[in-house]
Amino acid sequence: MKVLTGGVLIDGIGADPVHNAGVVIDDDGRISQVGRLTSLPAGAEIIDIAGRTIMPGLIDCHVHFFVDIRPFQELALTPMSLRVIQATLNAKTTLDAGVTSVRDALGSPAGFKTAVEQGLIPAPRMRIAITGLSQTGGHTDFHLPTGILHPLLPGGNPWEWPDGICDGVEEVRKATRSVLRAGADFVKLMSSGGVMSPSDEPTATQFTRAEISVMVEEAAAVGKTAMAHAQSTEGIRNAVECGVESIEHGFYLDESVIAEMKARGTFLVPTLQALTAVLRRAEEQPGSVMPQSVRKAQEAVEAHKKSFKMAVESGVRIAMGTDAGVGEHGTNAEELRLMVENGMTPMQAIVASTKTASECVHIDGEVGTLEPGKIADLLVVDGDPLDDIGILEDRSKLLMILQAGHSYKDLVS
Ligand SMILES: [Zn+2]
Repeated sequence: MKVLTGGVLIDGIGADPVHNAGVVIDDDGRISQVGRLTSLPAGAEIIDIAGRTIMPGLIDCHVHFFVDIRPFQELALTPMSLRVIQATLNAKTTLDAGVTSVRDALGSPAGFKTAVEQGLIPAPRMRIAITGLSQTGGHTDFHLPTGILHPLLPGGNPWEWPDGICDGVEEVRKATRSVLRAGADFVKLMSSGGVMSPSDEPTATQFTRAEISVMVEEAAAVGKTAMAHAQSTEGIRNAVECGVESIEHGFYLDESVIAEMKARGTFLVPTLQALTAVLRRAEEQPGSVMPQSVRKAQEAVEAHKKSFKMAVESGVRIAMGTDAGVGEHGTNAEELRLMVENGMTPMQAIVASTKTASECVHIDGEVGTLEPGKIADLLVVDGDPLDDIGILEDRSKLLMILQAGHSYKDLVS
C-alpha cells in the first residue's frame, strides 16, 4: 500500500483543487481513498508530496507510434523491424512526457499493444485502430503520381496491417471486418482529405454516407465505435450524422455541424499540435514534408483555431489528442498549452486530457480521474499547472509518473 499525502489534488473531473490532499493506493494498484486523508493506513509507504500537484496521467486520444515524418529516402530505407524499435522508443518517450494512456489512431498493430500489456516495454496503456480506411485517392491512399507507395505508413504483413483502401459498400464492409479481425479497438476512417496525403485536399469530402454507415454498423456489431479523420465541413457532417463517435482534427467546423455534435455527444479531438508541427518541421527540416502538405497546413491553420474556439464556446465534448508522429513524439503536453492559448482555461485543458479523453477512448471505467476504484495512473508535478499549463511540457517538473500504482518515475521518495 502506498500513500501520497500533503499535495494539491486535481482530480481530473474539474472540481476545484483540494489543498493538503492525497491518495491511498492499494496493493492491486487501485485508488482506495482520495482527497483530504484523515487517517493514514498503518504499514503503508508514505510519500510526502507537500507543495506539489497530484493529477491523473495524461491521455492522448490521437497518436501514431509507428509514424515519424522523415525525408522520403530515409523512410524508404527503414525496414519494418527497425520501425518496430523506433515505435518502441516513441512509446517510451510518450510515457516519459506523463502520458499514461493513448489511442493509436493508425499504425500500431495488435502485437505491439500486446507487448505493452505484457509489460515487455515501458509504454502508455493503448487502444489501437491499426489501419486507416480510405477511399481510393483518399487521405491514407499514399500512392504517389509515379505509382510508388509513399513509405510514411507502416505495412508489410497484411494480416497485421490489412489493406485499408476500399470503395463501395461491400468493399468497405470487408475492409472494416479485416481491421476488426486484426484487433482494432476503433474503426478509423477518413471522411475528408488531409494535409499529409499526396493527392487530396482537406476541403475534400471522402466516402459516401452509405460507406460510412457500413463502417459504423460493422463496428457496432462487435460493440465498438468509429473515429473519423474529418477536416472538411461536409466530411465532418457526414461522419457525425452517420454515427461516428469522434471527429479527429475538425478544421472546418460550422455552427450547424457543432450543434449536431452537441446533440449527439460526438467528441472533437482537435490535434492543434499537428499543423503547428508540420509548419515547424518544414522550416527546420526542409525536404521532410511534401510541398503540398506545407501549403495545405498554411491554408488551414487559422480556420482550425477558429473552429476550436467555436467548439469550446459551444460546449462540444473535447478530448485531447496531438497526432504525435506528425508532431514529435513525447511533446504531447504542448497540446494543452495550445488549447489554453486558443480559448480553454487550464482546468478545461486538463479535464479534456484526463476525464473526457478517457471517455473518448472507452477507458473511463479504469483511468482518467482520481476516484476510489480507479487504477492509479497519476502524475506528481512540481508546480501548479492551473497557474502555468506550460509546466507540463517540462519533464524535470514531472516528479512522479505512476502506472497502476507502480513508480515508472520517482524523484520524490
Ligand atoms: Zn493522425
